[in-house]
Amino acid sequence: MAVPKIWRKIPEYYNLIGKLCPECNAKFFPKRTVCKNCGCTRMQDYKFEGKGKIVTYTIIRTSMSDPEQEINEQAARNIPYALAIIKLKEGPMLTAQIIDCGDSELNIGKKVKKVFRKILENGPSGVIQYGYKFKIDK
Ligand SMILES: [Zn+2]
Repeated sequence: MAVPKIWRKIPEYYNLIGKLCPECNAKFFPKRTVCKNCGCTRMQDYKFEGKGKIVTYTIIRTSMSDPEQEINEQAARNIPYALAIIKLKEGPMLTAQIIDCGDSELNIGKKVKKVFRKILENGPSGVIQYGYKFKIDK
């Protein structure tokens, strides 16, 4: 993702801000302009608490290929890592990295909470991109 886009999206990425439908109370993450349930277009910002449960997970043991070599190397330094589908308490699901946990702690149904972490450092330009990751909620 290009830097300007990241900056525009920072509040959402930092704070898990999605949308709440004032008609049917459905909550969405990421944001959407029209409610999927009832078609309402008066969607309101909604901040998710950042707590949820692991629906499923996988351990990534190879880095993804990327045309920007520096990102490749960075990804390679971070493997293996755990990537999980998380169902937030409020309902929506998202994919995020689970950090600071051993293989034995990772389980389907395990409670997790959002933490704020560096996602990517953009090499020589020194731009650091932040976002959400999750850790086991003890
Ligand atoms: Zn609705």
